[in-house]
Amino acid sequence: MRIRKPLIAANWKMNVLPSEAFHLADHINSLTKDLNVDIVVAPPFTHLAFLKPLYGGNFSLGAQDVHSSPMGAHTGGVSVAMLKDLGVEYIIVGHSERRAEYESENALIRKKIDVCINAGLKVVYCCGESMELRELGKAFEFVQSQLENDLGKMEELNSLQIVIAYEPIWAIGTGLNASPQQADEMHLFIRQWLRDKFSLKAAESTRILYGGSVNATNAQELAAQINIDGALVGGASLKPDLFAEIAKAWHLKIV
Ligand code: PEP
Repeated sequence: MRIRKPLIAANWKMNVLPSEAFHLADHINSLTKDLNVDIVVAPPFTHLAFLKPLYGGNFSLGAQDVHSSPMGAHTGGVSVAMLKDLGVEYIIVGHSERRAEYESENALIRKKIDVCINAGLKVVYCCGESMELRELGKAFEFVQSQLENDLGKMEELNSLQIVIAYEPIWAIGTGLNASPQQADEMHLFIRQWLRDKFSLKAAESTRILYGGSVNATNAQELAAQINIDGALVGGASLKPDLFAEIAKAWHLKIV
C-alpha cells in the first residue's frame, strides 16, 4: 500500500508559446483531474499568469526556477513573492540543465531552497549523476554529496515542502532511462540518507520522483517500484495524452 500520494510534474522547459499555454495545460487538466495523484505543471515564467485560472483540485502550478534573493536589484530575476502571487505552489530547484548552463547555480541552490521554504512554497529539488560518474561506480557517492550540500544543513526536513527528484543526467531528454531497478535502488539510497540525516518520518513521508525520459510505456514499471512516488516529466509533458498515461500509471498503483 502506498503511503505517499504520487506526484507527476510537467517540466515544459523553454517550449510552448504563451498564447498556447492555457490550451495545453487545460487539456492536461481535463485528462488528469479525476486521478488520485497530484499534478504540477511548470511552464516558463512568461506563461504562468495564463494558467492561474486552472489552479485547484489536484492541479498545481510550478515554476522552473526562482531567484535566490527575495527581492531587490536583480535585473531579470523573478522572486518567490512574484511566483506566489501568480498562484505558484512548487518551484523546481537544481535542475541539471540549469546546473550545467549557469556556473553559479550549484552554489545558489541552498539559498533558493531557503527562500522558497521561508515563503511557504514547495520545492522540487533535483539531483542526479552523469553517465561518466555512473560508469566509474560513483553515482551513489555523487548523489550523496549533492544531498549533503543542498539539503544536509537544514535543521529538519519538512516533507510537505520538499519533494526530491532523482534525475540521472544521462537519462534526461536522451530516450535512455534508468531501469526501474536502478531508479528504485537510488531512491532507496536517498530514503536511507533522509532517515540517517533527519528522521524515519522524513524518510517515509518525503516524495521522491524519478525523472529521465519517462514515457507512457516505461511509466508502468517505474510506478510499480515502491520507492518511486511519481515522475518529473520533460518531453512527454508536452503531449497531454502521453502525460495523462504516465499519471494514470501511478494512479493505478494506489491500492
Ligand atoms: C526533465 O526535464 O526533468 C526531464 C526529465 O526531461 P525528459 O523527460 O525529457 O527526459
